[in-house]
This record gives sequence, C-alpha cells and structure tokens, in this order.
Amino acid sequence: MSSPVTAYLLLGSNLGNRVALLRDARARLAATAGQVVAASALYETAAWGREDQPAFLNQALAIETLLSAGELLARCLTTEQQAGRERLERWGSRTLDVDILLYGPAIIDQPDLTVPHPRLAERRFALLPLAEIAPQLVHPALGLTMADLLARCPDPLPVRPWLGDGVL
Ligand code: ATP
Ligand code: CA
Ligand code: CA
Repeated sequence: MSSPVTAYLLLGSNLGNRVALLRDARARLAATAGQVVAASALYETAAWGREDQPAFLNQALAIETLLSAGELLARCLTTEQQAGRERLERWGSRTLDVDILLYGPAIIDQPDLTVPHPRLAERRFALLPLAEIAPQLVHPALGLTMADLLARCPDPLPVRPWLGDGVL
C-alpha cells in the first residue's frame, strides 16, 4: 500500500449558511478523502475578481490521504455537488468551492488539474489560512514558504478572521 500524502485544500462559500456548509464539507471530506489533520480558522473576504457578490468564508484544511490527486479532485467536486453547487459563470457565487492547493510536493499540469493551485500566490484569502496551519511549508514550484509568500502577496483585499455573525 502506498504511504499517505498530505494535501492542502481550500474551502470557500458565499451563498447560504456558509458556516454550516463549511462544517458539512469538512465532515464529508473526512469521511471520503482522508483524515483532517489540521484546519485553519474561518476567514471572511470580499469576493475576489468579482466584487459584486456576497463575501466569502474560507478555511484551509490539511488532509492525509491515500487517494491519488485525480481521485482527491473527484471527491472535492462531489462534495461541492452535495452542497448544491451550481456552475453558472466563472468566479460566480457558490454554496461551496473546494480547491486543491497542494498535494504533497507534487507538480501536476493536466487539463483538469493544476497543482499547486495556479492562483495560490496571488490570493491572500488562500495564503493566510494556509500559512496559519503550515507556515513553513515550501511551495514546490516557487521555492518559498507559505509565510514568505504571504508576506510578499500583493493582493489588496483584506482577509478578516470570522468571529461569527453576532447571533448567539
Ligand atoms: P479558481 O480555479 O480560479 O479558484 P474556481 O474555483 O471558481 O476558480 P471552478 O469552477 O470551481 O473554478 O473549477 C473548475 C475546474 O478547475 C474544476 O472542475 C477542475 O477540473 C479544475 N481544476 C484545476 N486545478 C484545480 C485544483 N488545483 N483544484 C480544484 N480544481 C481544479
Ligand atoms: Ca476556487
Ligand atoms: Ca474550484
């Protein structure tokens, strides 16, 4: 049997009950993809690239998985579908987005899967939660740690820790 790989995922939601959608996604991924060994806090960010949308909540997860990268992507897409995601337009609002940020040290360039995620270094909303759980993790193509990439990230959109919506 092959040994487990640590993969890093980014969950995002900007439609519906975002906190519950992220919680359910974590549970479903833990049941279908591998053990969740680290989870960042939740962070809120205005919609990147399309600012005419509700804000996103994002969370980074580390998962120890025995799945191949392609199998892991399939579980991510199934998890999105089970959250009722509809694909209407590029970077449109969605109940759930699950991206593979990193899959161990692998560099993958396939038509349906690019790893590390090609826009990771330009997105503060991805780097901040990832650097929270894996600051010394080295980007296999850029050769910099997540902490360094965050320090150099030019993305001006503020990323705020999510403290809840004030409803007890
Ligand atoms: P972005 O990639 O800019 O974050 P997005 O998450 O809105 O955009 P989607 O519509 O969710 O894009 O995904 C479209 C396709 O991207 C997926 O069906 C998948 O095949 C492909 N894809 C390529 N690389 C990855 C990756 N690292 N993680 C997730 N999906 C990926
Ligand atoms: Ca995405
Ligand atoms: Ca996606």
